Amino acid sequence: MELSIGNLVAKPGEKVTGTIAVPGTTVKLPVTLINGKSDGKTVLITAGIHNAEYSGIETAIQLAGEIEPDEISGGLIIIHLVNVSGFEDRTMSVVPEDGKNLNRIFPGDPDGTEGDKICHFLVTAFFSRADFYIDLHAGDGYESLAPYVYYLGAAALEVVTRAKAMAQKVNVPYMVRSDIASGGAYNYAGSCGIPSILIERGGEARWSEAEVSLYKADVKNVLRHLAVLRGKVKANENKPVDVSDVVYENAAVTGCWYPRKKSGETFKKGEELGVIKDYFGKLQQICIAKYDGVILYQVSSLAILKDGPMIAYGKIVN
Ligand SMILES: [Zn+2]
Repeated sequence: MELSIGNLVAKPGEKVTGTIAVPGTTVKLPVTLINGKSDGKTVLITAGIHNAEYSGIETAIQLAGEIEPDEISGGLIIIHLVNVSGFEDRTMSVVPEDGKNLNRIFPGDPDGTEGDKICHFLVTAFFSRADFYIDLHAGDGYESLAPYVYYLGAAALEVVTRAKAMAQKVNVPYMVRSDIASGGAYNYAGSCGIPSILIERGGEARWSEAEVSLYKADVKNVLRHLAVLRGKVKANENKPVDVSDVVYENAAVTGCWYPRKKSGETFKKGEELGVIKDYFGKLQQICIAKYDGVILYQVSSLAILKDGPMIAYGKIVN
């Protein structure tokens, strides 16, 4: 079966790369279509919805270069980088034209601002072709994280079950069931009936070959599980366990952040997880653990912003 999106067309057995223009914007998405000779499921992979999450972006670029049509059944659609203007502005988190975080505004709006149009185009042109979806993220430029994976929670039971099975093939210690149905790309894809996961690996606006190598292995293992990539599913060293009741705590004040623990560290209820001080070193806020748990991610820059992210942690489900 032919795989075509926008101006790109891949016949069975073909790999095609190029850019696809987002209607009504100046954005051109770098995309690779890989069409297997034999039929099968179609998997959408996106990276750079957050443009400073480089390990995901480099993983998408390398996967697009490495995977060949004769290795797969079905199709792969890879968007190497979604927030192109953010990347070229070398800023973080948002689309520079409108200040919007793409992963908060799905399904978007064709008559909205730049970011709304990008999201709407992803839904109409890409989600509509996908049987499964893997979204590659990392900690943002100012965040460190423990590698983990989100899977859909707010979707039909069968979709949730399939998404969880995908998450279980990722070589990370933790997984989080998300109960949000829109806003995020993979959340909205779930509402469209597409089993979807979001992988978090890397962060702090860095990337390394070692990290990308682990990241590629994660994606390939999920693709094997979906019978799109040939080969046996690998038994990973990590089998992700659920982390529940995740607290996403924002900073109450702008100032300097002093975390007490590392991302991935566990803690007890009542422990101090970090403090915010002003520019004179005066204490402004103490972050206290609400229960025994593990830190998924936290701000790692000295700067911390009022009402912006500070720390996310959850309970390890045994
Ligand atoms: Zn992200």
